[in-house]
Amino acid sequence: MGNPPVSSGRPELRESPPSVWTAARDIRQAQRGGAASVMSRQQARLTGMIAFARRHSPFYRQRYGHLPDETPDILSLPPVTKQELMDHFRDWVTDPEVTRERVERFVSDPDRLGALFLDRYVVFATSGTTGRPGLFVHDRVSVSVCLALAAVRRIPPLLSPGLLCSFLRRGGRTATIIATGGHFTSSVIDGLARRRYPLLAGRNRTFSLLLPLPELVRKVNDFRPAIVGSYPTALSLLAQERESGALRVDPVLALTGAERLSPAARDRMAASFGCPVRDTYAASEFPGIAFDCEHGRLHLNTDWVVLEPVDAEYRPVPAGRPSHTALLTNLANRVQPILRYDIGDSVTWIPVPCPCGSPLPGIQVEGRRDDVLPLRAETGGTVAILPIALCTVVEEDPNVLTYQLVQVGPSRIRLRIEAAPGHDRDRVAGDLADRLRRFLSAQGAAPVEVEMTGEHPVRDATGGKLRQVVADLASHGVSGNPPE
Ligand SMILES: [Zn+2]
Repeated sequence: MGNPPVSSGRPELRESPPSVWTAARDIRQAQRGGAASVMSRQQARLTGMIAFARRHSPFYRQRYGHLPDETPDILSLPPVTKQELMDHFRDWVTDPEVTRERVERFVSDPDRLGALFLDRYVVFATSGTTGRPGLFVHDRVSVSVCLALAAVRRIPPLLSPGLLCSFLRRGGRTATIIATGGHFTSSVIDGLARRRYPLLAGRNRTFSLLLPLPELVRKVNDFRPAIVGSYPTALSLLAQERESGALRVDPVLALTGAERLSPAARDRMAASFGCPVRDTYAASEFPGIAFDCEHGRLHLNTDWVVLEPVDAEYRPVPAGRPSHTALLTNLANRVQPILRYDIGDSVTWIPVPCPCGSPLPGIQVEGRRDDVLPLRAETGGTVAILPIALCTVVEEDPNVLTYQLVQVGPSRIRLRIEAAPGHDRDRVAGDLADRLRRFLSAQGAAPVEVEMTGEHPVRDATGGKLRQVVADLASHGVSGNPPE
C-alpha cells in the first residue's frame, strides 16, 4: 500500500491542494482496505502533521521543544485547549496573513457568510461556552477532505435510490433549523453551498431557531421540506408540533447534530416524523468527525481524525467507559494545526464491532460537557455531581422531552422541562424532582430544594445550543467557582 496521496509529500501550505475527487478516491480506497488501511493512513498523516506543526507553527515548536526530533508518540504530545490556542493565535497559525484581527473583522460581517477569507480559507466562529469565542480557519485541503468524506461516507448511505425518489417526489427541499446570526459552522456551510450552487439555493432553506415557535412552524409548513435538519432538542420540539398537528411536514429523512442524540430521543423523533433520524458528530475544529450508520452507531473517520477519550488528567480511558473529555487531532488542516485538542465532549469507545461491518471504530458521544454541580454535602463541604449522571436520571423518564437543570444555590436546583405530548408537565416535573432528590441524597448531598418553575429550557444566547446542566451560582449571589 502506498502513501496516502493527499497529505504526503506536500508539507507546504499553499501548494496545489487535492481536488475533492482525489480525496474522495483515497477515502474510498481506505475504506475498502479495511482497518489496517485506514490506520496506516492515520499514522502517515499524523507524522506529517506533527512535523509540519513543529516547522511552521511557533506555538507548537515551543510546546514540543523538549521532545525528540524524530516523530514522537502522540501520547507524549502535551494537550492544548481552545483558550490557549486563541491566546496564542498569532504563533499558532502557519500563514502570517491570517491574523486574529483580520479573522475577527471577517466574521463580524454578516454579508461575508459563506465567502472565502483571503480568497482561500473557510472560517467558523463558535459561540464560546468557555467565555471567549473560537475562530477556526480551514485551508483547502481541510475543506476538500470534509466535502469528500460527506460525498463518500455520508450522503450515499442516507440517500438510497428509494429514498432519493421519495425525496424528489416530495419536492426535494431541505430545511435546516439552526441558530443563525453568526459565522457558526452550519450557517457557514449553508452559505458556502448557496454561493457555489445558486440554483440549489431555493431548495435549501435555513430557519432561525430564535423565531417564536408558532412562526417557525408556519414558515417550515410553507416551505414543505422533504428533509429536516436541526439539533436533537429542537427536532424533538418540532416532533411534538407535528404530533399536535401544527407542523404539517412529511419528511423522508431527519438529520441531527451538535448535541447528544439519545436512543430514546431518536426513536421518539423517528416515530413522530415517520422517517429515519440520522446523526453526525461534527465540530468547528473538524466538521466531519463521525457519521452514524443504519444501526445508529457513530463511526469515526479515523483516516482523517484522531479522537482520544481521556480522563480529567488527560490519561487514556479504556474502551467501554465514558471519558471525561476527548482529545481531537485534525489530520487535514495545516493553517491552524489542531493536535491533541481538548474538545470537551465525553466519548465512549465501543469495543464490539458494528453489525454494519464498517472498518471505522464506533463511538458514543455524550455531547458537550455541561457544568459539574457543586452541591452542599450532607457532611459539610461540597459534593460534585456529574452532569452525565444527572442526565441519565432525567432521561430514565421518556416523558421528559427537553430539560435544563440550573443550580441557583448551594442546595437549590431550578428545573425547566417540557413534557412529551399528551403528558402533564407538572406531573412529569414532580416525578422527576422526586427522583432527583433521591439520587442526590444517595450521592451524599444535603437535602436539595428542586424549584419547579413554568420556565422553558433556555438556549445559549449566541450559539443556540442547549446546555442541560448549568451551574449558575454567580448570578444568584453565591460566591466561589464551581469545582471543575
Ligand atoms: Zn455501523
